[in-house]
Amino acid sequence: MLKTLSKWVRRAIGDPRPIPDSLWLSTLLHYAFLARLSSPEQARLRQLATHFLDRKEFTGVHGLQVTDAMAVAVAAQACLPLLHLGDADTPATALHWYDDFVGIVMHPGSAVARRHVMDGAGVVHAYDEVLAGEAMHRGPVMLSWPAVQQAGSDAHAGYSVVIHEFVHKMDMQDGGADGAPPLPRGFMGARGPREAARHWARTWAPAYERFREQLITAQRFGTPAPWLDAYGASAPEEFFAVACEAHFVQPERFAAEFPELSTALRAFFRQPHPPESSR
Ligand SMILES: [Zn+2]
Repeated sequence: MLKTLSKWVRRAIGDPRPIPDSLWLSTLLHYAFLARLSSPEQARLRQLATHFLDRKEFTGVHGLQVTDAMAVAVAAQACLPLLHLGDADTPATALHWYDDFVGIVMHPGSAVARRHVMDGAGVVHAYDEVLAGEAMHRGPVMLSWPAVQQAGSDAHAGYSVVIHEFVHKMDMQDGGADGAPPLPRGFMGARGPREAARHWARTWAPAYERFREQLITAQRFGTPAPWLDAYGASAPEEFFAVACEAHFVQPERFAAEFPELSTALRAFFRQPHPPESSR
């Protein structure tokens, strides 16, 4: 396996190398959900992305050369969920959410992972799973470059594999991924962590069940499928990840389809204003 390494080199004086203007602008233009952010938000995102690049190490596999443009495309999307989570004057403090790993592995196409499952009789079966991305607890994030790029053209569907994998990382901060990330103190007025967790579960569990039922009904009877990646029906943690993708890529549509989830995510990501259509 041929590996190439692209590391964002820290300047001798200690500050991370700034992202060049042209590179930053072409990244914003490719991803409409980044282009629509306000100027102060874009400046904050750029600062976060700069520090992200300084801390992470990109590795291209199967002959892929990771360019600066690829690294910036990943950094900008990965930092979007952290936009309002850092201190007011030092946004980079939010990067602690991604402190458990350094490596980002980029594939030139879909990655194929060999999986093994044991059935009830104790027989182990092997199968291949085609992946657009993968996040491992305390391990690297794997991304398919074509899938990363696709978030620009698939924005109407609310997809971003980068946001998907990085919110899994956030979810994993209190152990494994379960669709319930560690909640901030006083989350939605809760008086303690238990109350916050209860509130989260009461919001997400019924929404997940409803989504699964709607999908099953759609498959059986041909009724319209719910808006949101059907992959979200595979597990609560996947429902959380696809909901976050849609929330950041298509905030108005997501808020219209899942108002209670939109409110919970806005509170979790400490976003200051509701989406325009609901103002
Ligand atoms: Zn996932």
